[in-house]
Formats: sequence, C-alpha cells, structure tokens
Amino acid sequence: MHYSEDDIQRYMKAAFVQAEEAYAQGEVPVGCVLVHDLKIIGRGRNRPNETCNATKHAEMVAIDEILGYKTGSTSNARSLSNSDASTSQQAPFTPNVFSETDLFVTVEPCVMCASALRQLAPAPKKKSKRILKSDDLSVR
Ligand SMILES: [Zn+2]
Repeated sequence: MHYSEDDIQRYMKAAFVQAEEAYAQGEVPVGCVLVHDLKIIGRGRNRPNETCNATKHAEMVAIDEILGYKTGSTSNARSLSNSDASTSQQAPFTPNVFSETDLFVTVEPCVMCASALRQLAPAPKKKSKRILKSDDLSVR
C-alpha cells in the first residue's frame, strides 16, 4: 500500500493517541494502529498492568481486536472463555487480512510482537515497508 504523507501523519497520530491513553492509565506509553485498505481495522495500546498479563503489548491488543478476542475493556469483541464459545460473535476479520495490513506504531515492536506479526503475515505479496514508526516521520 502506498501512503501519502497525510495518511502517514493521520495513522501515526492515531497511534500516539493510543500511546497517550496507555500513559494516562499507568502503562508504558506505546500505541499502534493496523491499517488495511486505508482504514484502521485495529487499535492497541499497552495493557500489561491493567490485565496483569505481560504479553498485552499494543500490537498484541490490536491483533486481538482484529481477530475478535476480548482484551481488557475493548468493546465489541468476543471473549476467550469457554462459556462464551458457543455464543461468540464472528471475528471481524480472518487472519488472512494481516498479509495486506500495515502497522503504524510509536515504538519499534519487541521480538514477541514482531514475531507474532511475522507469523500472521509470512509472505507479503509485494515488497513494502510493513512497519512504520515515529522515526519514519519528518517532524515539522
Ligand atoms: Zn511487544
């Protein structure tokens, strides 16, 4: 996907909004958005303290949102508990969407998140920069 400078600014601002929310909630201020067809389909912010789960990094939270798993107070998502399995809602997207999705994130992903994203999108159809972070922005 080719992004205009305005697109990049908009998506990075959305990622920073997530990071600011994380900071306000006492988390390490990291935020991200996942973009498909110029639409934000997943948003995430760090939630390890809130969820008492060290794996709930911003990227993992955004992945969960796309796949329809409930993380913290994320609304409109299905639960992982067995009691809800029979009545769970359909996930908004299938894992195939990740091969055509780009990550905009405030801090370069850690090894866990980079690996998760790589496993979800193992073979990009075209060569592109898959992860855009704040260092890629020109500051005005
Ligand atoms: Zn991470």
